[in-house]
Amino acid sequence: MSLERILAAVGALRRRLRSRARTLVVIALFFTSAWLAGALAGWLAAAGALMMAMVAAGRGTTDADDEPARSVSAEHGRSPSSKGQQREADSWRLLLDAVPDAVVALDHNFNIMHFNARLEELFPKARIGQPLSQLSRHPELNAAVDAAVTASQRIVVDLYERVPVERRISASISRIGGREIRRGVPFLIVSFRDLTEQDKLAQMRADFIANASHELRTPLASLRGFVETLQGPARDDPEARDRFLAIMSSQANRMTRLIDDLLSLSRAEMRVHLPPRGIVDLNDVASYVAQALDPVAAASKARIVVTKSEEPVRIRGDRDEIVQVIQNLVHNAIKYGREGGNVEIAVSRVLDGSPPQPRALVAVADDGPGIAPEHLPRLTERFYRAGQGGREKSGTGLGLAIVKHIVLRHRGEFRITSTLGKGSTFSVLFDELSPAGA
Ligand code: ADP
Repeated sequence: MSLERILAAVGALRRRLRSRARTLVVIALFFTSAWLAGALAGWLAAAGALMMAMVAAGRGTTDADDEPARSVSAEHGRSPSSKGQQREADSWRLLLDAVPDAVVALDHNFNIMHFNARLEELFPKARIGQPLSQLSRHPELNAAVDAAVTASQRIVVDLYERVPVERRISASISRIGGREIRRGVPFLIVSFRDLTEQDKLAQMRADFIANASHELRTPLASLRGFVETLQGPARDDPEARDRFLAIMSSQANRMTRLIDDLLSLSRAEMRVHLPPRGIVDLNDVASYVAQALDPVAAASKARIVVTKSEEPVRIRGDRDEIVQVIQNLVHNAIKYGREGGNVEIAVSRVLDGSPPQPRALVAVADDGPGIAPEHLPRLTERFYRAGQGGREKSGTGLGLAIVKHIVLRHRGEFRITSTLGKGSTFSVLFDELSPAGA
């Protein structure tokens, strides 16, 4: 044993005894008192005290007392010298866990040292110790990781996947600290962000603008055509002029409807996160809408029937918006229902959900040709038209999208049921306002 080691061992024993000093004093006092009181023979008290002291000094050799052994490896730059330091050195793991993106830490061999829960969601097969290439076989990612070793800035690369689902993931790779290898400390941090949803939203927005322009362009082109005809060949034809002017007026009305619906939709979308403040009685709204649309129903020889609840059915809501919801549904029931058919607006209070809650229900039912089941899930998409059974060509395809957004703002539910040949029922459900909440 070298002198250095003997000195180190003596030092360790001294430190250990110093840290156990209070326990040793208590042991010494106990055995001395026992000897003085005559309970123990002198030699027995001395032997007992010695044994207890040895047990006390030897206890816990795995924690703070191990300092010299650990600091040996620390001298080699291998591992921290105490539990506290170890915890401190590992705190980067907690940091990664707190990052909202999917993050993985790699050692200098590009093996996984740690990853957070978000990464597991994105790559469920991630395992500690496996190489990054197991996580994703993208050659672009592996090339970017190689490049990050010598790069002075972080490297960002887009990864496109086709199976099992199409998605775009942006990966950003940063080297931590210098290029030297430090055990227990990550060498590279790779963060992933799934941009698929963001791309989908951007695509939807682009489609919406394209659809809106297309819908406006069609009546506008027709208007321009008639203007040119009236200026040219039909200049002196009074009969053609009257016919064309009637069409032009209907096209201009269509454009107005489109713009009104687009504005309503954008208003409904903008307010979707603002809880409504007013109080609305659904019985009252049902009567109001029936009265307002009576002339429209009469023009289609349809009949609007209102079945009200006996007591007021109140919800927290924006009256104008609730009127628009019921109006759109009743207008559709007239447009797409049977000529000379019945449109029923029924207001009731129901117990719905689990556990059952008192809810307010407005159901608008028609006895028209109904809607084929394949169309039902898409009816609330903007510009979507089922295209069958419609006598009416004046729709914009936005009415039900507006209904959906307004109902969403009111934290309600929108349900559609339909049977071909029998008719459709469009229902909206809201939480009913208890008398105390009024
Ligand atoms: P539109 O302006 O075309 O009426 P909506 O969003 O209000 O747009 O409705 C979307 C489509 O849903 C309509 O084009 C129509 O095909 C179908 N639809 C809506 N209500 C009814 C109904 N009561 N009966 C049958 N089909 C309906």
